[in-house]
Amino acid sequence: MFIDRARIQVTAGNGGNGKVSFKRAKGMPKGGPDGGDGGKGGDVILAVDEGLNTLIDFRGIYEWKAEHGEGGGSKQCTGANAPDKVIRVPAGTVVYDEHTGEQIVDLGPGDSFVIAKGGKGGYGNEHFKNAVNQTPRTASPGEPGEVRALNLELKVIAEVGLVGLPNAGKSTFLKSVTRADPKIANYPFTTLSPQLGIAILDQSRRVVIADIPGLIEGAADGAGLGHDFLRHIERTQVIIHVLDVEPDNALGAAANYRSIRQELVEYSSELAEKPEMIALNKLDLMTPEDQQEALDALRTELQLDANQEIYPISGATGVGCDVLLEAAWKLLHGDQVQLGW
Ligand code: GDP
Ligand code: MG
Repeated sequence: MFIDRARIQVTAGNGGNGKVSFKRAKGMPKGGPDGGDGGKGGDVILAVDEGLNTLIDFRGIYEWKAEHGEGGGSKQCTGANAPDKVIRVPAGTVVYDEHTGEQIVDLGPGDSFVIAKGGKGGYGNEHFKNAVNQTPRTASPGEPGEVRALNLELKVIAEVGLVGLPNAGKSTFLKSVTRADPKIANYPFTTLSPQLGIAILDQSRRVVIADIPGLIEGAADGAGLGHDFLRHIERTQVIIHVLDVEPDNALGAAANYRSIRQELVEYSSELAEKPEMIALNKLDLMTPEDQQEALDALRTELQLDANQEIYPISGATGVGCDVLLEAAWKLLHGDQVQLGW
């Protein structure tokens, strides 16, 4: 898990001003007041979008403003209310007042929250007409919209966890598929924590991936660093099992696969039951014929069903990584099409 943060300022719209005006009609030189009220300024609303999982898009956009209400018009015309400005945030976003440090709201799935209220519209002069003053020349200005400086915080949990023996190529894969977003490099990682990256499939689709180093034999018994890492990926929804096509340990990809599977099962049956994708890595080391042979051999050794894929990839060259990510997306979200981000 890592904390994604953003600082923003939200400014609701001002109310529209009330209008001073008098009826003008033929044969009615001294009409009464008919200035309309101003419209309400737009609210700024934070609304949870369950398709989002980071605050990355807030980087570089500090100010979020709603529009002002329209001024009142003549002939008792009320100014139009301004539309609300809706800011989409991921579920789990916690909002703090930057000045007081106070928590304002913790937004869960389906929530929305008015974070800055738009100003009320002012009254037109018609409103000020009374028995004493039949021709008021006063109108009131619209109220200002609220302005707030906010800190947003989100605990990002990986959707996809990478498992595999040391040197299978997990770090290389993660670096390869997340290189499109250099901002990721700014997150403080230590060598001991799971590394997280966000793979960008296109404008509207992203996948948060954790590289879990240190999953080694015996990890489930508390040896090595395994425990913490396993605890982390327990929250992930899909596992990508990265296999080296020509592993150093000469046991072969299938044996290595089984040993990592064994770790998963021993640690947590819940984890072991998560949907898993098998990626056969480092295929750039082979000719296309040998690649096919290696895939077929692994398929046979693992006795996979016809509907179980092995994804041939090379983290080093990037070949096959797109296909793998698309399939991961599909596992996570089904055929759901998400617009915008
Ligand atoms: P990790 O321990 O699973 O994170 O593995 P790394 O990503 O650190 O990779 C281990 C070694 O394998 C490094 O020397 C990488 O350069 C190499 N490697 C990783 N992916 C590939 C690949 O797709 N092709 C080739 N030829 N080498 C790779
Ligand atoms: Mg690594």
